[in-house]
Amino acid sequence: MTDLLDFDTPERFLEGLNAWVGIESPTSDAAAVNRVMDRAQADFERIGATVERVPGTGGRGDHLVVRAPWNAGSNERGVTLLSHLDTVHPIGSLALNPIRTEDGRAYGPGINDMKAGAHAGFAALRRLLEEGRTTPLPLTLVYVSDEEVGSQTSQALIEAEAKRSKYVLVLEAARGGGRVVTSRKGLARYDLAVRGVPAHSGSAHRNGRSAVKELAHQILALERMTDYDRGVTVSVGMISGGTAANVVPEHATCSIDLRVPTMADARELTARIEGLAPVTPDVTLTITGGMNRFPYSKPERPDVAALFDHARSLAADIGFDLQDLPSGEGSGGSDGQFCIPYAAVLDGLGPFGGGSHTNGEFLDVSTIVPRGTLLLHLLQTLR
Ligand SMILES: [Zn+2]
Repeated sequence: MTDLLDFDTPERFLEGLNAWVGIESPTSDAAAVNRVMDRAQADFERIGATVERVPGTGGRGDHLVVRAPWNAGSNERGVTLLSHLDTVHPIGSLALNPIRTEDGRAYGPGINDMKAGAHAGFAALRRLLEEGRTTPLPLTLVYVSDEEVGSQTSQALIEAEAKRSKYVLVLEAARGGGRVVTSRKGLARYDLAVRGVPAHSGSAHRNGRSAVKELAHQILALERMTDYDRGVTVSVGMISGGTAANVVPEHATCSIDLRVPTMADARELTARIEGLAPVTPDVTLTITGGMNRFPYSKPERPDVAALFDHARSLAADIGFDLQDLPSGEGSGGSDGQFCIPYAAVLDGLGPFGGGSHTNGEFLDVSTIVPRGTLLLHLLQTLR
């Protein structure tokens, strides 16, 4: 194990990281996101990596696909490091949470979510290149511009790179206490549209078929699908319907959010939602939508379990105990879920701090070296 490289000092890492944090990059401001992409691209080109710039679409910023020089000509499935360089913080946040290091904490907008992790990927590749090392598998780093709003414009790119990958390491910050994520709930979104029969609510009520009344039946049926013991939730988040108080409503709609812990649950619950039938005669239901992020869990995926076990043993050699979140607690969406059909995914490998999405966001400086070293050692040993 003595042959494995050490990571940057915290001072060197923070110098490079602060240059990225100092360029504000809210998702909604494509020009701002492109400025941090410019900086990252220049940094990677300076160290000799190959950078492909993927133009933004739909008003979002560009994405970067960075390849290690030793990838050239290889068709072998490799390792992809996945990051985003957009943040939730509007322009001006830098004045509210200025770049500074105090009491072992490095502050700045987006430093924890997730410029520190994003920069750890850069710093790891720089260490390899400056020491003249390579990795056993091809190495690719992907930087997207729109993760904080759901990655609509980068999903296809992420999936394409995942198909070329054996492993996807997501460099988001570790969770509380440094836990990585080995399970994520799946998410489905649906819209339900009810069409009834309109009528005057006074003179012809008997002839009407109320879409609102039918929707009320459907909402109760949907919410009854929730099963906390199984980790399944169905929530109706928005409703609308009707045109006037004195009209039996012809139209009503609702939006549905489904969370499931396993693929088996996903198949069962999506079939139940898609199979909803009207309880009122002469009324029709139209259900659109489907799975948006796939669920996965370590017990269901031996490749994820093996990847975690390998990372855990490397961490033990470095001197810390790597834990993962209990199954079912990784319920927020992640770009790693676009990759899970194609590759083993380990999420939350970045250095970490706290206060994400607030003006107190910080990185715990003491996590830089152990997490960066773990990343470097993974890159040098995954095969
Ligand atoms: Zn993030």
